Amino acid sequence: MESRLSSRYRVIAVVVLVLIAGFVTTSLTNYQISRQAIRDSIISNELPLSSHTIFAEIQADLLRPIFVSSLMAQDTFLRDWVLDGEQNPEQMRRYLDEIRQRYNAFSSYFISARTLNYYHFTGLSRQVNPEDLADQWFWRVRDMSSPYEVNLDYNREQESALTVYINYRMLDYDGHFLGVTGVGLGLDSVQQLIQRYQQDFRRTIYFVDQQGLIKLHSQQTDMRGLSIKEQPGINAIAPALLKQQHSTFTYEKDGELMLLTSRYLPELKWYLLIELKESEAIAPIRQSLFMNMAIGTLVVLVIATVIASTINGFHLRLEQLASTDKLSGLGNRQYFDQSLAQAFQYYQRNQQPFSLILLDIDHFKRINDQYGHSTGDAVIRQISQRIGDQIRSSDILCRWGGEEFAVLARDCTTEQAVQLAEKIRQNIEATPILDEDSHSEYKAAIQITLSAGVSQTQPKDTSSQLFSRADQALYRAKHRGRNRVESG
Ligand code: GH3
Ligand code: MG
Ligand code: MG
Repeated sequence: MESRLSSRYRVIAVVVLVLIAGFVTTSLTNYQISRQAIRDSIISNELPLSSHTIFAEIQADLLRPIFVSSLMAQDTFLRDWVLDGEQNPEQMRRYLDEIRQRYNAFSSYFISARTLNYYHFTGLSRQVNPEDLADQWFWRVRDMSSPYEVNLDYNREQESALTVYINYRMLDYDGHFLGVTGVGLGLDSVQQLIQRYQQDFRRTIYFVDQQGLIKLHSQQTDMRGLSIKEQPGINAIAPALLKQQHSTFTYEKDGELMLLTSRYLPELKWYLLIELKESEAIAPIRQSLFMNMAIGTLVVLVIATVIASTINGFHLRLEQLASTDKLSGLGNRQYFDQSLAQAFQYYQRNQQPFSLILLDIDHFKRINDQYGHSTGDAVIRQISQRIGDQIRSSDILCRWGGEEFAVLARDCTTEQAVQLAEKIRQNIEATPILDEDSHSEYKAAIQITLSAGVSQTQPKDTSSQLFSRADQALYRAKHRGRNRVESG
């Protein structure tokens, strides 16, 4: 019994395991395929596209400040004022302020090569100092071959707005260097674009110069000045990155795969880097993987429950079929044997006596001979029913053989069992059985009698001894003329 039970659960376990294995395999394979597809699409399409968009936006945004600065550098008033010896600083201040207002710049300036005066739209502020590192740029611009340089920076005074400074070289009418002029302008649309990429698409955007030094970082300002050649992870690809105009890489950082695209911006002489953690990119499909797994587990559980209850149902049905007699619906001989064994175990533990009644229809062969086999069947069915009606619900009735029945009567002495057998005998004798099987209008009433042998449990009894005493009693009943009850 136990092994049958465990084999049943083994079947369920195998089915569940096969389902889970199949399910997990397809889910993971799908996940891997989607992951690879997303990674490929990010590397070959999305990142380069973002990079191109930012690049184009920066170029468009630079046109205006470069134009304004070149206008200033070629302004005759400005040049004449410098050549006349920088007489009236207030004139200069008004000029710079007007430029600032007209072009909506937030800064405008001129630095004179002769006096090193730094003129600002707020007035003459100070002098640039060749010793001061922060002023070094002035001499760099002086010695430059190109007419201007572009500087991108976050303006701390303006809530870290992305700002561009154009430093334009101003020359006199003979081409001699007079100083540097220019404007500072907010790059609002570039800034918005960068913020959008960052917030909506979780991209990190930063700029590095040709040496690999981080000039601007959209998230971590403390990264500024660090070299990508020394940052863990990206250092592996930095040399290759700094050699190409634009390229795409993957690298590992803190156990995470990073996807990165780089693009050289010639106006700035900087590289624009856009990178994305792979895990951020695949977060949605990872979520759907978990969802799939949860649904799959639920489905597997439901299937397991359905299988378990189906198997249990079949099992019960089989057990019923195996222990039930088809003709009478009573327990069969196997069921009788089991019941007798159980009753005996119970008796041995509790010493509560029980009785066995064997019943055998008298001259049943004749009924078969006279009315046919199927009428005989009908008689067996009806006799079964009638015996069943006479016994208590705690008694067990089985069809033990062809036309032989057995009753196991709990808490019952021989006398009580004889009384019960007698009651059954009288009931059968008193009412003949109608031949239900007959096709004619007139249904024959068949007179049936039966004989019974009764025995009761004795101390140190065995079930076969008990049975054999009842059988002998039945034999005596037959021998003494049938239609009677004997006990032994
Ligand atoms: P007695 O018991 O009084 O000695 O006589 P009997 O004719 O009943 O004797 P026996 O036990 O030898 O015969 C039983 C007969 O019951 C034999 C068999 O043909 C018949 N029989 C057994 N099972 C079935 C059954 O399922 N259907 C029908 N129709 N007949 C059955
Ligand atoms: Mg018989
Ligand atoms: Mg008989």
